[in-house]
Order: sequence, then structure tokens, then C-alpha cells
Amino acid sequence: MDLRTVCVHAGAEIDTPTGDVTPPLNLSSTFARGTDGELIGPHLYGRYGNPTRARLERALAALEGGGSAFAFPSGLAASMAILQFACAPHDLVLFPNDLYFGVRKQITDAMARWGLRAQALDMTNLGAVERALNEGPRLVWLETPSNPMLHVTDVASVAARARMVGALTVVDNTWPTPALTRPLELGADVVLHSTTKYLGGHSDVVGGAVVLPAGSPLQEPMIGAQRVGGSIAGPMDAWLVLRGLRTLALRVRAACDGALAVARWLEGHPAVTHVHYPGLLDDPGHEVAARQMGGGFGGMLSARFVDEETARRTIANLHLWVRATSLGGVESLVEHRALVEGPDTQTPRDLLRFSVGIESPEDLIDDLEQALG
Ligand SMILES: *Cc1c(COP(=O)(O)O)cnc(C)c1O
Repeated sequence: MDLRTVCVHAGAEIDTPTGDVTPPLNLSSTFARGTDGELIGPHLYGRYGNPTRARLERALAALEGGGSAFAFPSGLAASMAILQFACAPHDLVLFPNDLYFGVRKQITDAMARWGLRAQALDMTNLGAVERALNEGPRLVWLETPSNPMLHVTDVASVAARARMVGALTVVDNTWPTPALTRPLELGADVVLHSTTKYLGGHSDVVGGAVVLPAGSPLQEPMIGAQRVGGSIAGPMDAWLVLRGLRTLALRVRAACDGALAVARWLEGHPAVTHVHYPGLLDDPGHEVAARQMGGGFGGMLSARFVDEETARRTIANLHLWVRATSLGGVESLVEHRALVEGPDTQTPRDLLRFSVGIESPEDLIDDLEQALG
């Protein structure tokens, strides 16, 4: 079925005695046994599983074309589950130069103290990828388009090469979402989400997820991350993400249209020196993105200004765009990324990152015009 249909119906099976059309929010932390000692229903205890979380996990697996999914309390809890439960000390992880800074900190700081080895490289350079693969990594970590520089990686090409040396490819699919890219169909072994972003879609929940293909060797490790590691999405959070999924396809489409319009407008402004958006024809990632991101280039973009002062003045003058971290909500957000990432940031100080919401693109552009004026 078309993804728009899956978004509406996944995890919404009408299977309760009361015939609920909207999935009930099931808050029970434990589940009763009969006189024979057997469980009455399919669930035992909230950490092991919960009906609302199970619906979300079924829905996420369906959206990504996976065999199983695991809902975590945040995107970083999901990435930590992969690093801790799918890797052994001394394993090598290859990661991209440009990467969500929290994941980079986990790989190079938290997990380095635990003995994990890590190597950063330019994942858009297949020659560099092939050389690094000779080192025998356990995982190849991809994020495309990347945060905040919008580098586009060819998932199918990297995953095919990783497979030849027995490495697993992890794709952080938070930015494109399954509405634009389905990494498992491109040969990836693991999909990661911060459901805080587009999947939740309303800036009212923090969550994460891992999706695996059927028969994945990581299925047991991910069950362990939840049951032994104790890292689970709570029922209310799972319910909110499930509610957000219903409109995912529509919201992503609107965000793509808005982002393209904003990117084109910014590109023509004299105070802007560079716009990073794969939807622009001269963007280095355009060709791969046009192939890999079906029907749109996403709602995220970043722009560099003539200097830091101009970038800071522009963000200060905006009225409609909300100055806040995060992305993927219905409202457009803007952020001076270097300020948020702190002193060890690699992000240029003249750069603003934009998350385009579902407002009218004309209104968003009018606000930018007055702010730059
Ligand atoms: C936000 C984000 C994360 C981290 O997710 P949290 O839900 O904030 O823990 C990871 N990867 C990407 C690409 C993100 O945008």
C-alpha cells in the first residue's frame, strides 16, 4: 500500500472489546495472570512490553518495511542502544564527518571510554569509504542529509560495500523519514529515528526508535536494550508518536515544498553566501538525493551569511520563525547551531539552520525578508 495509507492505518488495528477506532492509551505497568498462573493477555510487565508501545512498534516496522521495531525514550537512547548492545569493546565504528553532534559525542566520548574505536570520514567519497572498510569495522553509521551541513550520502552504494566486509550499515533516517527514504530497501541493516522530530511532528514528545529487517542479528540485542538495559518509550509518549504518524506523509510533503521555496529565496539574497539544500540543482548532493529521496528533498536546510553578525541579527529579527533547537514540527524553527552545540562545535559561526514547518511558504519568506531588510 501507499505510504500515505500505511501512515493512517499502521498500529490502528480495531482489536479491543470496545472497538476503539483510535488506539487506547494503556498505562498499566503490569498484567494479570489467571488461576493457572498463565498470563491472561500477551503482556507481562511494562518494561517488557505494553499494548500502546507495541502498536507504535508495529507501525514503525510497517512504515520502514522492517520486520521489527523498538521504541526508545529518545533518539539518543536509541543510538546508545545500538552502540552498547550491538558492539563489543574494541569494535570499530565508521561515522561521517558531519553528524548530529549528540551521536558524535556518544561514539567518540561516552563509548570511547568503554573501549569502542571510531573513525570519522567523508561518507560522500566512496573511495574513502572503501579504504576505511579495509579496517574491518563492525558498524558504518550514516546520516543523510546530515546535520547541519546537509551532506547527502548514497546509502545503497555504502551499504553494498559494507556488506562485502561483514559490516552493518546504520542509517539515521530522522531527517528524510520513511516518507522520503526507506533505508532497509536500499540495503541498510538498521534504521534509527529520533521520533521527537517528524514522526511525532508536533514538538510535544521526545522519543526514539530502531527498526530492523526480518531475521536481523540485532533483534536479540535490541530486545536486550529494552528488557535488560531498561530503555523504553513510555505509553503516553508512544501514543503521541502514534498520533503524529497519521499525518506524516502530508506534513513532510508540505515541509518539502516550503523548504524548496525558502532555499531558492535565500539563495538569491545578497547577504547569503551559501545555501545547503539538496533540492537546489547546484547542490553537490542533488543527484543522489533526487534518486534516493522519492518525491522531495526534506524540510531542513542551512544557510551561511556574509558574517556571524549578519546571521545573529537575522535570527534576532524574525517574528514568525521560532528561535528554538529541534526540528520536524508543524511550526518553522530556526537556530544558530554553533551557539547551541557549544565550544567544541565544528559548525560555522555564520550559519543558521532552518526547519521548515507547514505554514505558507510566502509568510515564511516575508518574515525572512523583513528580518534581512
Ligand atoms: C534530534 C536528533 C537526534 C537525537 O534525538 P533525541 O530525540 O533528541 O535524543 C539524533 N539524530 C538526528 C538526526 C536528530 O535530528
